[in-house]
Amino acid sequence: MQAVVLHQFGSVDHLRLQSVADPRPGPGEVLLRVRACGVCYHDVINRRGSLPRTSVPAILGHEVAGEVVEVGPGVHDWKIGDRAATLQRMSCGVCSACTSGRTSLCRRDARFFGEELPGGYAGLMVAPVGGIGRVPDGIPWTVAATVCCTAGTAVHVVRTRGRIRRGETVLVTGASGGVGLQVVQLARLDGARVIAVTSNPAKVAALYNAGAHEVVAAPGLEFAAGVRRVTDGDGAQVAIEIVGSATFGQTLKAMAPGGRVIVVGNLETGTIDLNPGLVIVKELEILGAYATTQGELEEALQLTCARKLTPFVTDVLPLGDAARAHVRLENREVAGRLVLCPDA
Ligand SMILES: [Zn+2]
Ligand SMILES: [Zn+2]
Repeated sequence: MQAVVLHQFGSVDHLRLQSVADPRPGPGEVLLRVRACGVCYHDVINRRGSLPRTSVPAILGHEVAGEVVEVGPGVHDWKIGDRAATLQRMSCGVCSACTSGRTSLCRRDARFFGEELPGGYAGLMVAPVGGIGRVPDGIPWTVAATVCCTAGTAVHVVRTRGRIRRGETVLVTGASGGVGLQVVQLARLDGARVIAVTSNPAKVAALYNAGAHEVVAAPGLEFAAGVRRVTDGDGAQVAIEIVGSATFGQTLKAMAPGGRVIVVGNLETGTIDLNPGLVIVKELEILGAYATTQGELEEALQLTCARKLTPFVTDVLPLGDAARAHVRLENREVAGRLVLCPDA
C-alpha cells in the first residue's frame, strides 16, 4: 500500500509518501481500507516529536474513516463492507475508569492511533474493534473521518465536562479550528451565548456563520479586555480553552467570578505562569477534557446526520499532500479541517 511515513521527528520534510507492506489484522482487529483521514494539530505536535509514545518510523493520523475489508480472528460484530470511524484512542472496557464511562482515563489500554498504533495516513489501516464506531450511511467519508475529533470532542467538552447550561456565556479560544467551529455550534445549540476568539481577522465571518454571538479578533492574543467589553464587564462564565498555554493567561483574566475553564487543547505544548490568587479570589474551576468516548462519537455522528452540527471540511487532499497540510495548519491558514483521501 501507499503510506505517508514519518522517518524522523522534526520538519515536514520527514513526511514521505512511499510503498510499504500491507498490514494484516490480528485477533480482535479489522483491516480498514482508508477512505479519509483528517489532519489534526495533534499530528503536527506528534511530527515535531512532542508525544513520547510515538516512535519513528511512524504512520500518523487518528481521524480515520474507512470500510472493513478483512476481519481478524475472534471478531464477530463487524463484517466486510461495514463503515467505520476511529476513536482517537483505545480503552480496556473493564477497569474502573471504563466501567464508569470515563474511557479516556483508562490506563490499561491507552494506545492512540498514530502513536502506538499505526495511523491513517495510508491506504490501509489495522484497527482494534474497541477503537472504532459505526458510521451511518448518510455521512460522507470525509466528514465521518473528522467527526470524532471535532464534533465528538465538542460533545465531550460542552456537554460531558463543561455541563454548559442555557444562558451561560461561553468563551471559545482557537474557535476557528476544526474543534472550535463544532464547539461554537454545539454551545449555541445548547442555549449558551457564545464569544469566539480568533487570532486571525480573516476568520471572523466564518465564526459568525458558525453561530458565534460575538467574535473577538485578537492578532496579538490580547483578548481579555474585548471579552469583558462584550459581557458588560462581567467576563465569561465558561471558557473552552482549545489553544492552551498561549492563551491561558488571557482566558483567566476574561473569566467571571465562579467561572469554569475547560482545557482541551495545548497547541504549543508549553507551560504557563499561573497566579493562584486569580483562581482563589474568583473561585475558578479548571477542568481537563481529553478524547472522546464511544457514546460521544455516536452522539456526534447523530448530531451531524441530523444537520444540527455542520461539518467544516475545508479541503480534500491526496496522501502525497500530507506535508503541505501540516504547513497550512502551522501557518494557521485553515478554518475547519483538512482531510487526506488515498483515492483523491
Ligand atoms: Zn484529531
Ligand atoms: Zn479501562
